[in-house]
Amino acid sequence: MTADHTPGQNRVAGQTAIVTGSSSGIGAGIAKELGAAGANVVVNYAGNRDGADAVVRQITGGGGSAIAIKADVNSEADVTAMFRATVHEYGTVDILVSNAGVQKDAAFVDMTLDQWNRVIGINLTGAFLCARAAAREFLRRGMVPERSRALGKIIFISSVHETIPWAGHVNYAASKGGVMLFMKSIAQELGPQKIRVNSIAPGAIKTPINRAAWDTPGAEAKLLNLVPYKRVGEPVDIARAAVWLASDASDYVHGTSLLVDGGMALYPGFADGG
Ligand code: NAD
Repeated sequence: MTADHTPGQNRVAGQTAIVTGSSSGIGAGIAKELGAAGANVVVNYAGNRDGADAVVRQITGGGGSAIAIKADVNSEADVTAMFRATVHEYGTVDILVSNAGVQKDAAFVDMTLDQWNRVIGINLTGAFLCARAAAREFLRRGMVPERSRALGKIIFISSVHETIPWAGHVNYAASKGGVMLFMKSIAQELGPQKIRVNSIAPGAIKTPINRAAWDTPGAEAKLLNLVPYKRVGEPVDIARAAVWLASDASDYVHGTSLLVDGGMALYPGFADGG
């Protein structure tokens, strides 16, 4: 397939994408959108095989190509095996969407070391392990100019909490703040090799991770106080941004965090003068 370098073309057709934690929520939305755009998609899951299979079926049912691969992103051996299996199936990897993430909330003084380690381990160390494996594969494979202007693309799904402090969730905010400087540092390091690295920082998106914050009218109304655009986001809002960041349409976007948050990061408490 010949890549179309016309600006504005969200072309990912014929490229292979690994989307971590894509058996549900934002990851599932990204996997489906990439699949619909013609990418081969690896639907990574940790425990939810049924969810992963449903995403694969939806992509293949629409004429796309996808496989499910089980891997714990916090396990070096699992991540290595996932990349090996992907290369075996599709020949290489062109796009990594590092999306897998968890919350283990607690008041700071009550937070256990296990709650801290789980969140840092999946959200930050998992991002490290997957990004390192992706960069190594991009470098092994070499440039394929007819497929993309970049050697490869890495997209982290971070959070508005990479910059907004979050009491009661300090492990989560620390992990996402870590992802932000990790992303920028590897963007600086890998840019000369034409590896393009960015993050998407979602605001409030309706997924299982935050169900309690939106699944009753009262909870949703309270959440909307934090969203100037007065709508809770959907996975497809993030997925469309991810396809753009994965494609040559965004070829000069490098080392940035794209807020997709309906304005949540605009200090909404100051909307009435503070
Ligand atoms: P989700 O719970 O549906 O998705 C998280 C996914 O990560 C799940 O599929 C889960 O199985 C997977 N996962 C967990 N541990 C894993 C591991 N060790 N290895 C592989 N996969 C693992 O929730 P979501 O909202 O779709 O979250 C996706 C990402 O978006 C997370 O990084 C989250 O922090 C981020 N995010 C979500 C929101 C939101 O409002 N929903 C806002 C900002 C950021």
